[in-house]
Amino acid sequence: MMNIREIDIFSGAKRPVVIAGPCSAESEEQVVAVATSLAGSGVALFRAGIWKPRTRPGCFEGVGACGLEWLARVKKEFSLPVATEVATAAHVEQALSAGIDVLWVGARTVTNPFAVQEVAEALRGVDVPVLVKNPVNPDLELWVGALERLYNCGVTRLGAVHRGFSSYGEKFFRNSPQWQLPLELKNRLPQLPLICDPSHIAGKSELVQGLAQQAMDLNFDGLMVEVHHAPSCALSDARQQITPEELSSVLAGLVRRSSLSDAVEFATFRDKIDELDKEIIALISKRMAVSKEIGEVKKNKGVTVFQPFRYKETMERCVALGAGYELSAEVVRGVFEAIHSESIRQQLQIVNKKANDEK
Ligand code: PEP
Ligand code: MN
Repeated sequence: MMNIREIDIFSGAKRPVVIAGPCSAESEEQVVAVATSLAGSGVALFRAGIWKPRTRPGCFEGVGACGLEWLARVKKEFSLPVATEVATAAHVEQALSAGIDVLWVGARTVTNPFAVQEVAEALRGVDVPVLVKNPVNPDLELWVGALERLYNCGVTRLGAVHRGFSSYGEKFFRNSPQWQLPLELKNRLPQLPLICDPSHIAGKSELVQGLAQQAMDLNFDGLMVEVHHAPSCALSDARQQITPEELSSVLAGLVRRSSLSDAVEFATFRDKIDELDKEIIALISKRMAVSKEIGEVKKNKGVTVFQPFRYKETMERCVALGAGYELSAEVVRGVFEAIHSESIRQQLQIVNKKANDEK
């Protein structure tokens, strides 16, 4: 059980806690221009990448250690705490000696336990807050593992940043949000502040607002937004950055909801839902009873438990049925994949049990 301590920027009730700044520090002028616009606008922490882990070589890979001085200037001149990304022990040492207030570990680094361990070891005995982005692949254990590695080295002021998950092919968002992963992380570690990075999920500036609202609706604690004074000229992630003015309008447009859920009106609906959940479980169990009977027949006829044709046909039928009830194909598929795999598990038990008995 991790005893996570609060990071200063999260103390006090104000939500969302806003972290903003350019994807990359590009020049001293650019950093100072963005910071000038953000100072005094309610932004709690200024972000800028110095070492940029780009997926392909040849892209802008950051200005390196010289950018740390620009961040130190922002901290001093605007009394704005500053954050940057670290991926190696050398980054950690340089960032700490420049007085960087908060560090974050990026999505590509979190996929690699060796790299995370190196960063964690470099932080042993240093009480600096660290934000951990989700790994690029939707693996909750890897995300939790990175938090644990840091915690085990004495880093107890931790936060998680949800920046979406990469996938292959045509997609609406640059990184699919798969909201169930950050929500499950929050279930496991309720003290951990959850920050949404709508910029990296969106990949396009015009989608930032909607995602920020969705994060608020899901009770996220904060937002990390990429802000550049001239997004189209940005050296990295140009398409997804917004101007300081656009950030103000995104924040002003957010509908904030209370996280309290004890309104009396909920009680009757919740009773109804509890009743329906009971019926769903009873129905699944009825379906399993039929599956078990089929399991007996499969055993007697020497037929394989898994029938690909039938599986495909069931999925297609259920997805089509679900569409008639405005249920997304993704959800119907998820539910029926789970039911089908339980069916298979139970049928395998029948087949194998009988086989053993006959020996
Ligand atoms: C970033 O914050 O600019 C960045 C590189 O993000 P991520 O690690 O989420 O890709
Ligand atoms: Mn970026």
